[in-house]
Amino acid sequence: MRHAFSIDLEDWFHVLNLTSVIPQSSWEERESRVDGNVRRLLEILADHNTHATFFVLGWVAEKNPELIRAVADAGHEIASHGMMHQLVYTMTPDEFREEMIESKQLIEDVAGVQVKGYRASNFSITRGSLWALEILAELGFTYDTSIFPFERRRYGIAGTPPRPHLRRLSNGQEIIEIPPSVVDVAGRVMPVAGGGYFRLLPYSVTRWAIEKIEQEGRPFCFYLHPWEIDPEQPRVRGLDPVSKFLHYQNLKRSEPRLLRMLNDFEFGTYQEVTEVL
Ligand SMILES: [Zn+2]
Repeated sequence: MRHAFSIDLEDWFHVLNLTSVIPQSSWEERESRVDGNVRRLLEILADHNTHATFFVLGWVAEKNPELIRAVADAGHEIASHGMMHQLVYTMTPDEFREEMIESKQLIEDVAGVQVKGYRASNFSITRGSLWALEILAELGFTYDTSIFPFERRRYGIAGTPPRPHLRRLSNGQEIIEIPPSVVDVAGRVMPVAGGGYFRLLPYSVTRWAIEKIEQEGRPFCFYLHPWEIDPEQPRVRGLDPVSKFLHYQNLKRSEPRLLRMLNDFEFGTYQEVTEVL
C-alpha cells in the first residue's frame, strides 16, 4: 500500500511552540535554515524514488522563490500552509478568506502549479472553525488535512473518521478530508502521524502503527518539518522546559529514522490519496 508523505515547508522560528520567545515581528532577523534543510529532504526523497507533498507557508515562498521552484521541479506536489502561520480559530472568516486568497495566488505564481491542498498551522481547524472548509472549497481547494481526529487543548476534533473521507458542506460544496494518522490502542486514540510524535516515540512504535494502519486498509498520512532534521539550528533561550523538550529532543534521530521508514514503506503524495478515494 502506498502511504502519504508531507513536509510543512516553514522555518524553525515559525513554530507555535516557540512563539513565547520568538514574536512574529522578529522573524526577519532570524537565521533562515529552510533552504539547506529542504534541499536535504529533496535528496533523501530522490534517493528513495519518492514524491511528497510540501505544504508551503506563503511567508517562506515570498522570500525563497527558487527553493519552492526546486521542490516543484523535482516533481513534488505543492500545497498551501497559509500565509503567516496564524491559527485558523484566531481569525475571522473574512480574515481567513483574505489570507487564503493571498497565499494561494503567491504560491501558485512562485511554483507555477495549481494548489489543491491545504494544511492549517497546528491543525487549527477545530469544531469552532469548521467554516474554514467552506471557504477552502469556494477558493478551489479539493482537499484539507487540518483536522486531527482526536482532541487536545490546541487542536483536534474527537470522533472524526480517521480515514480519508469526503465531507459534504452546508454551502452545497464538498471537500476531501485527509486526517493525520491515529491508531486505536485498546479503545484510546493515539496520534502517530509525524512531527513530535515521530521524533519523540521510538521508531518501532511508528513502524508498528503503520503496519496496523495498513491492515485496516487505510493509508498512513505522515508529516514532518524541515527543522526536525536539523540538529545545528540555533538554540533559543527562555523557553519553558516542556517547550524546550518538544522542540529540541531527538533532532539527531529524525533523519536516520526517516531513512528507515522510507526503506520499510512506500510513500507518495496527498493528492494521490484523493485519487484513490
Ligand atoms: Zn506549520
